[in-house]
Amino acid sequence: MTTPLRVLLIEDSENDAELLLLELRRGGYAPEYERVETHEGLEDALARQSWDIIISDYAMPRFNGLQALKLAQEKGGDIPFIIISGSIGEDVAVEAMKAGAHDYLMKGKLARLLPAIARELREARMRQERRQADETIHRLAYIDAVTGLPNRVRFHELVQEAVVAAQREQRPIALLLMDLDRFKDVNDTLGHIRGDSLLQQVGLRLRSALFAPDVVARIGGDEFGILLARLAASDDVQKVIQKIHDCLEVPFTIDGIPIVVETSIGVATMPEHADDADTLLQRADIAMYRAKQMASDYTVYAPELNLHSPERLGLMAELRDAIEQNQLVLHFQPKLELKTGRIVGNEALVRWQHPRLGMVPPDQFILAAEQTGLIAPLTRWVLIDALSHCQGAGREGIRLRVSVNLSARSLHDPHLPKMIADALAATGAAPNQLMLEVTESAIVLEPKRAEENLMTLSRMGTLLSIDDFGTGYTSLSSIKRLPINEIKIDKSFVTNMLTDKKDAMIVRTVIDFGHNFGLTVVAEGVETKEVLDALTDLGCDVAQGYFISKPLPSELLKSWFSTTPWKLPRG
Ligand code: C2E
Ligand code: MG
Ligand code: MG
Repeated sequence: MTTPLRVLLIEDSENDAELLLLELRRGGYAPEYERVETHEGLEDALARQSWDIIISDYAMPRFNGLQALKLAQEKGGDIPFIIISGSIGEDVAVEAMKAGAHDYLMKGKLARLLPAIARELREARMRQERRQADETIHRLAYIDAVTGLPNRVRFHELVQEAVVAAQREQRPIALLLMDLDRFKDVNDTLGHIRGDSLLQQVGLRLRSALFAPDVVARIGGDEFGILLARLAASDDVQKVIQKIHDCLEVPFTIDGIPIVVETSIGVATMPEHADDADTLLQRADIAMYRAKQMASDYTVYAPELNLHSPERLGLMAELRDAIEQNQLVLHFQPKLELKTGRIVGNEALVRWQHPRLGMVPPDQFILAAEQTGLIAPLTRWVLIDALSHCQGAGREGIRLRVSVNLSARSLHDPHLPKMIADALAATGAAPNQLMLEVTESAIVLEPKRAEENLMTLSRMGTLLSIDDFGTGYTSLSSIKRLPINEIKIDKSFVTNMLTDKKDAMIVRTVIDFGHNFGLTVVAEGVETKEVLDALTDLGCDVAQGYFISKPLPSELLKSWFSTTPWKLPRG
């Protein structure tokens, strides 16, 4: 039985080489060998094939063992390297071992060769196995199995390293977090295998669109992380985002099915938004959530978006209890019909009566409630309280419709129609007493799901209003298709319409637009009599705002009813 052995001999003497080979054959090896004696020869042999062991002479006319060792380490990796010399002194031997030779032998003592080779081969095999195990562990721990890209853990490390390097070299870096919109639909309708295949293709396109030093990672289900560590200036981010959009624009084809991928990208840059990796990641995440919420292509972080401050996180922990313990209160803001001077409804606006912080406005907890899964219980609470109030006023002879705001999450929740039906049943209110306000951007976020819910609700008999109209991206076709009753011109246009020509034009256009579609047009944010008059002249149907009344808690609304000069829908 002979063992094949690929031996690279670095030896100027043909005779010495023969002796070595003889010894190897005696030990049961079948050497497949090559003899080289120069730098070039060695380099060439290392490049051509892999070797089990290198046995090198120490002193040769044009080369020596240490130079050979260095080259082998550079080009050959971790091949066992044994130096054999007729003249090697103890000092040189020590130097060779220090430089990384695995063993050294004297030419006259070749008996030691076979045990040395056996040992070195065994150890090389062990090193190899350990390396493979390390690689497997590394792969499992750091590489996403679906796309082959770095995973979340690795991405964090890379961001950390990039932050340190960028700070040292005083360069900017940018972090992009990208989420695929409606990826869940792909998974649900086409199955996980096709979903995975889509993720792979997205990964490939991103990888080929970006430069090699840019990191592309898959950091969650449908989330990709992109690290731009070689930016000339923070402004260059725009160009990269454009490239990303361009590369994803062509529909993907999965098993012949064309799939359009839309994304929401959140951007945070250093030094502008953060000076450490965690903050940078967290802020890009906040920006991404906002981009998704606003259905915009990308959002750059801004401090106003930061709902994750420690105080806010604390608040979120308390919100669940707050809902159960009735710390939420509704304020109601009356809506005035301009043609008749009659109050025709009111809008329920939620507040949190916090035991320590006092009255917390909705802007400070609605978005975070959406992110933490508390929006469903919150919406349920608001619906029941608003409808009970509506019924209470009805019993006192004032029949008012109540408007309730729905957040994007609620709008896309398949349980929404049932939640509303239950609230109507629990309070005994009629469906047409309830008007639901949704924003344009919430619809655009997932139009199909929004549409299904809104159609069901319309069949149930509730009414629908598009809130903050003019700030989103409503397409004419969705206005035509959806069962809309009312649009509310956003207060940012209304409040300044007398001083800002553009705002005035938008208000006029929206009023005409709404009327062309047979919709009731409401102006919100009416703060003065002058604006109210101007809106009346323009033919606006309904006004809401501080000039008529601020949002009021229900007891104050009752006294407002008894003193207001406006007509009330009694009966
Ligand atoms: P929105 O639905 O557009 O509500 C109108 C906001 O404008 C209210 O702010 C209201 O107090 C304020 N406002 C009313 N009249 C005037 C005025 O004349 N001038 C000015 N400058 N502002 C006026 P609020 O109550 O802070 O609510 C903010 C937003 O929070 C609401 O905007 C709505 O999107 C959301 N929200 C409120 N309650 C709820 C709720 O129960 N559920 C959900 N999902 N969102 C809610
Ligand atoms: Mg509203
Ligand atoms: Mg509004």
